[in-house]
Amino acid sequence: MKKILSIFIFIISILAFAADDIKLSGDTLKQGGFFYIEYPADKNYTVEFKQGPKNLEAFIYKNKKYVFVPVHYSNPVGTYTLKVLDNKKEIFSHLIKLTDGNFKKSYIKVTKKMSEKRSDTNLQAGADKIAEAKKNSEKNKLWKGKFINPTNVKENSNFGAMRFVNNKVVGYHSGIDFPVPIGTPLKAANDGKVIFADHLVTTGNTLVIDHGMGVFSSYSHMSEITVKVGQSVIKGDIVGKSGNTGFVTGPHLHFSITMGRTAINPYLFMDYDILGDK
Ligand SMILES: [Zn+2]
Repeated sequence: MKKILSIFIFIISILAFAADDIKLSGDTLKQGGFFYIEYPADKNYTVEFKQGPKNLEAFIYKNKKYVFVPVHYSNPVGTYTLKVLDNKKEIFSHLIKLTDGNFKKSYIKVTKKMSEKRSDTNLQAGADKIAEAKKNSEKNKLWKGKFINPTNVKENSNFGAMRFVNNKVVGYHSGIDFPVPIGTPLKAANDGKVIFADHLVTTGNTLVIDHGMGVFSSYSHMSEITVKVGQSVIKGDIVGKSGNTGFVTGPHLHFSITMGRTAINPYLFMDYDILGDK
């Protein structure tokens, strides 16, 4: 009897360990979405999810550690395993279901000269510069509440839309577009720090704001940027004006939110208060 009781206690303690120590924000997400894992700040766990970025970083907020796992919009739908390890030993595993993002198709016609701006070399050069700027990003949470629309109009091109340029698929739309005329004042979507403000061939005048914990917002094709790298901004601050610089078919703001280097659906931060007080 004593032996049975001790086995029983042993099983209970394992379940309690897995359930109390590690929490998941959810186990179903859409392509271009994310989930996070929460555990006590004094633990040094490693999170493994092959469909997410390598070397996932843990950030501390209110005495807890958080690991955000974004999943790229081109990742095939399916069921994938999430693992949490403590000192290389697996202590938690869970199945994560990735569902269809239901992305629309979007067709663009441009001149040859314009299409050259979107060359692989130019895209890579831009991505490298921004990746460099993100290297010393803020570990603490800077954003407060929901992110706001940087303009005063509704979007006219969805996140994840399959992009056809001159009838050739060139990829998926990494953000959302707001059709604003040149010179429209643009607002910072949330509190943060400017980490990039420069001209890039593809995205034109580009601003990137670091919101902490690996979350960034970016604003492309601007006519003017009125904030400087290193400057802190508050949600709603005017950061510059919209324009038509870089690869465009007309004036608009291309707005995106990235976790690390992965673009996610911006509405996940605009419609929900992520890590907000419950
Ligand atoms: Zn766009």
